[in-house]
Amino acid sequence: MATKVITGIPVSSGIAIGKAFFMNRRLYGFIPRQSIAADIVSDEVARLEESIARAAAELSEVRESLPPELRDHALLIDSHITILRDPKLAKSARFYIEDMRINAEWALLKAVKDMEQAFSAIKDDYIRDRIQDVRLMADRVLSKLMGLSTGLKAIEGRVILLAHDLAPSDTAGLEVDKIMAFTTAEGGKTSHTGILARSLQIPAIVGVVGLEDNVQDGQFIIIDALKGRILVEPNEDELARYTDLQNRFESYQKNIHRNCHQPGETIDGYRVKVMANIELFEEVAAVLDHGGEGIGLYRTEYSYMNRKTLPSEDELYEEYRDLAAIMDGRKVVYRTLDLGSDKYMSQYGQTQERNPALGLRSIRFCLRHKEMFKTQLRAILRASVEGNCAMMYPMISGLRELREANKVLFEVKQELKRDGLPHASDIPVGIMVELPSAVMTAELLAREVDFFSIGTNDLIQYSLGIDRTNKDVSYLYQPLHPAVLRSIKLVVDAAHQGGIEVSLCGEVASDPFCIPILLGMQIDSISMNPQAIPGIKRIIRQTTMDECKELLRRILECRTVTRINRLVMDSIFQRFPEELTFYSSLLDVDDFV
Ligand code: PEP
Ligand code: MG
Repeated sequence: MATKVITGIPVSSGIAIGKAFFMNRRLYGFIPRQSIAADIVSDEVARLEESIARAAAELSEVRESLPPELRDHALLIDSHITILRDPKLAKSARFYIEDMRINAEWALLKAVKDMEQAFSAIKDDYIRDRIQDVRLMADRVLSKLMGLSTGLKAIEGRVILLAHDLAPSDTAGLEVDKIMAFTTAEGGKTSHTGILARSLQIPAIVGVVGLEDNVQDGQFIIIDALKGRILVEPNEDELARYTDLQNRFESYQKNIHRNCHQPGETIDGYRVKVMANIELFEEVAAVLDHGGEGIGLYRTEYSYMNRKTLPSEDELYEEYRDLAAIMDGRKVVYRTLDLGSDKYMSQYGQTQERNPALGLRSIRFCLRHKEMFKTQLRAILRASVEGNCAMMYPMISGLRELREANKVLFEVKQELKRDGLPHASDIPVGIMVELPSAVMTAELLAREVDFFSIGTNDLIQYSLGIDRTNKDVSYLYQPLHPAVLRSIKLVVDAAHQGGIEVSLCGEVASDPFCIPILLGMQIDSISMNPQAIPGIKRIIRQTTMDECKELLRRILECRTVTRINRLVMDSIFQRFPEELTFYSSLLDVDDFV
């Protein structure tokens, strides 16, 4: 056994083995409290002020030297400089130095603690969470006060970079060739670290619980960013097994990348479009690099999160237009706002609903806030003049809701016409099928939409009654449950009978186990995270439709999920052992290392 195993969220897949290097760590636990003599109080105040000024100057330098692809982050760096220059923080720390005769580090810590208390009373989530930025800046000043280096300059060879959090200002000047992997204590799926790591194609794990308590600078660690685990000081046996897994993963990656721009087509000629899901504009490069044939799901809500004001129509228009232009004729499907439940926006506050997943979310939220919805629809229609665009509504529960949304869309088209603004009035309009009520009425819905996109992340949640964010019930989250498979089949058949195309854009689309089954159902397109595309295409290109249909027939005869899992494992594992080892959420990598 390894000394310790800690876990987090894998955001860029791969394995790294090497020495830990902390770029910045929460310094709070390590600060000594020292009393100082009266005659050095003014020196101590000067030391504090000089450290704050140096931290601000360093950030200004980073801001000036941002490469063009990171220019968008300049505003964030500005806001950090503003925190450092805010006289309140310095004034409060100075007060503690003078009044309590304590060292500058401890005084700064006390000043931050006061701010934390004041912030905790703020109702607005966005503003309350800005205390994180204050802490991040306090860490910068503390490292100056304590004479610590934040750079990699002194390091020889390559390291695994660990940090409490990584802001764009931290990563802008990094010598990336010295970094084997990133790991942070803070952060979620969409954090900057993940995007950066994916674009550099190095492994990363974020949101690691207990990172700073369990790993020391210089310790030998294994980053398993296939499963989100960090092994601290692994034993010989683990080292050998992970070295082998790392070699296999790297040669597999090279191998699949070579053919990722070929179409998704089975040996016997069945063509399925392989598209990408993205959340941020910056991910487009990864889509094109990994052979994405288009964007099957653009989660537009991220442009509304982490900000104080709603985005304007022009701002959204420019973003959507640029996306369409950069995709250069390849399809882009904009999903209208899917806020609420797990995706919050500060203007409307975190709802106090008892069951947010069943509450005022998604299309329901948009129909309640019509002006906001209209702004987005106007931007989508205007941007769609540029490219091959489509849009879809999330969480549609039935015909009435669909018609209500379409009514707003109709009004928007009239208004754009009246305003004389160029727009595409005839782009395809589809719905996401993610509620059991939409599954059961798919046949009716198919008559009134241009396409379906099955959102299995939510469909599984609502069909099996499992909160998708609750770890305690995650073992029940079964994509191959007979109810889920029958629902998907029902929707695909209803779409085809109604003469429309059907896509699937939940995580299931990137699970190698599920691909032959979806092909057997004759799905028209699948959409997934860009990194999964090469492996999934490889499976499609080595399969025949006959074998997929036969597998589906046998699966539909099974009564339990256990039986289905067994059947799928037996029949698919022999054919695609690597894809299943590295990517399937149904398997535990422990079985293979
Ligand atoms: C889904 O529900 O499957 C889906 C793709 O949408 P999201 O994960 O954004 O809810
Ligand atoms: Mg969903």
